[in-house]
Amino acid sequence: MTNELQVYIDGEFYPKSQAKISVYDHGFLYGDGVFEGIREYNGVVFKLKEHIDRLYRSAHAIMLQIPLTKEEMTKAVVETLRKNKMKDSYIRLIVSRGLGDLGLDPRKCPKPTIVIITDTINIKAGNAKEVGITTMFSWVRRNPVDATTHEIKSLNYLNSVLAKIEANANGVDEAICLEASGCIAEGVGENIFIVKSGEIFTPPTSTGALAGITADVVAELCGKLGIDLIITNLTPFMLFTADEAFFTGTAMEMVPIREVNKRTIGDGKPGPLTKKLMTEFQKVIENPKNGTKI
Ligand code: PMP
Repeated sequence: MTNELQVYIDGEFYPKSQAKISVYDHGFLYGDGVFEGIREYNGVVFKLKEHIDRLYRSAHAIMLQIPLTKEEMTKAVVETLRKNKMKDSYIRLIVSRGLGDLGLDPRKCPKPTIVIITDTINIKAGNAKEVGITTMFSWVRRNPVDATTHEIKSLNYLNSVLAKIEANANGVDEAICLEASGCIAEGVGENIFIVKSGEIFTPPTSTGALAGITADVVAELCGKLGIDLIITNLTPFMLFTADEAFFTGTAMEMVPIREVNKRTIGDGKPGPLTKKLMTEFQKVIENPKNGTKI
């Protein structure tokens, strides 16, 4: 027996060092596939149903027939976590088009590949939650809706990777991508919110923002707290002149934004509404009712 983490591949478990798929898999050759990133907190998989639903929506959009039912997929995730006796893990669920030949035709791939990794994620960027992060607008636009649309959580993340490279090269923490019209879309793996005069604004999912599950939680919290949440196009100017801004996402959870393209947002410190929502968000993730027990 090995102490190595066990990775699920197509119904079998393999130690992490031997968890391999073919170089002929179209997920590798063409980015042809879909995925989800999911968190488990204290034995409960946060919003697992919502993540599985989104995975199947992405798969449907690329005409990829996942060979498991949603119930079977849920069980496979839970089983992988149990097998690894994981606590507070990060789950990566991947379904690729599967093994094919060197042509891109998906008909050459008779069986999708399913991979479930349960590991930890190391994104604790120092004291980012307390002091906020720096950002910049990237030259890379989100994938347009009439191409590899941002709505599909596909294995093709080069768009986000390019934006991240730009942020790294400029020494800022994270990039913000614009959508085709020049309005703000989202971060490289996060949704974005701004606060102005006591109201909260976020871009619509129709133009450039992924339908984020964390963003949905924040929207619900706004409703409960009686804070107006307005879904509308946001210009770069609106972020420059916002009182507060923050990112949401499974990996990052909620993180304040303190600077964009060298302009300080508000007074440069996490604002009161951001802090209030972060406190409430923590309660949501700690509530076992908001997920699936392992
Ligand atoms: N936008 C993009 C491009 C993402 O990859 C993610 C991460 N899934 C998000 C937003 C945030 O979505 P969620 O809150 O569901 O993790």
